[in-house]
Amino acid sequence: TQSGLFRSLFRHLRMSIRAEQREELAADAGRLQALLDAAVDGIVIIDEHGRIENFNKTAEAMFGFLASDLIGQNVSRLMPEPYSSEHDGYIARYLRTGDARIIGIGREVTGRRNDGTVFPLELSVGESVRNGERCFVGFIRDVTERKAIEERLRQQEEELAHVTRLSILGEMAAGIAHEINQPLTAISTYAEACSRLLAAGNIEPDELRMTLERISQQALRAGEVIRRLRRLAQRGTSGRDVIDVGTTVEETLRLAEADARAFGMTIQLDCESDLPPVIADSVQIQQVVLNLLRNALESLEEANNRTQPIRIEVRGKAPDDIAVRVTDYGVGIRDEDRAHLFEPFHTTKDAGMGIGLAISRTIITAHGGELSFKPNPEGGAVFEFTLPTTIGVESNDQ
Ligand code: ADP
Repeated sequence: TQSGLFRSLFRHLRMSIRAEQREELAADAGRLQALLDAAVDGIVIIDEHGRIENFNKTAEAMFGFLASDLIGQNVSRLMPEPYSSEHDGYIARYLRTGDARIIGIGREVTGRRNDGTVFPLELSVGESVRNGERCFVGFIRDVTERKAIEERLRQQEEELAHVTRLSILGEMAAGIAHEINQPLTAISTYAEACSRLLAAGNIEPDELRMTLERISQQALRAGEVIRRLRRLAQRGTSGRDVIDVGTTVEETLRLAEADARAFGMTIQLDCESDLPPVIADSVQIQQVVLNLLRNALESLEEANNRTQPIRIEVRGKAPDDIAVRVTDYGVGIRDEDRAHLFEPFHTTKDAGMGIGLAISRTIITAHGGELSFKPNPEGGAVFEFTLPTTIGVESNDQ
């Protein structure tokens, strides 16, 4: 019948339209895959259960997996523990709370290759919704090489910092030797007195005990100076710790004061009490303080000013920094030198290396603080560095 003819024609038409759509869709998918495969970044697309839907060519090379091995598998196969076991939880939490830790943010995480090796990668994740289900697109960059270069640079900086530390200590040797000599002289005087009294046979046990105690105190005092020296002279440092800046500065002052006395000068410490702690490498902070004090001493000597003490202040600074300020009344810094102050190898001294301030600034910047100079209105220089007291708590989620 005519209507039967129409129906079958219509069905035929519908089917050929569908086939055309399918072909078009297949062509679209092919084009999309070609695009994904041409990308320089690794691209991994997962569904909201963490199952891999797409794994491009760059990702194959990076992880040593074939896309066909991974499609349908959980993306956690590409991560080391503990992230691997926790990843489903990360997605579930995000879907539940909408609280993004990585989506739309991007961060450095670690990946695991097919052969089990672990490597650092930069990951940024985008999100889209398809048929009511979300999917996530991860863009991945292998940063092994960049990290290796950063690590080499860090090691070189540390070497350089060590060399400058040794050079500062070398300059302070006379004062430090004097500081150690004093208790040694006292020990020998007490010991001689004891043996004289013993020889004469007229020493009371109490008196002997007291003198021996004094000897032991002096030996401890000498030992303390040597302990401080050794800590500063060590290669590498013990790393970051929770420290009290006031105590660190005071500790540094013990060595610096010996140096100042050798110059016939004094250092005045003014430290605010109850300051919050900071996270810092105390040896490196001591190095910065020593360098600033040493520069101040040399400037005072150049100005032939032995009357005014160097001032060192430790204070809280809004909003949440601690500031350490060293003020001297020395020769000050000429306008034309100011711009180059923190450049390596800039020095106005015959025997200067000109790297003390450059290293100090690197150290303070690495701690999230700032090292700056301003002229002292009464003549001389004021150097100030800050250290942040609150450090953002890093979340370990991938
Ligand atoms: P160095 O002390 O070996 O020259 P630094 O990097 O510590 O190296 O200092 C660089 C230069 O900055 C010094 O040569 C000096 O000219 C200037 N300078 C630093 N601190 C002071 C200061 N307190 N007073 C005057 N000049 C200073």
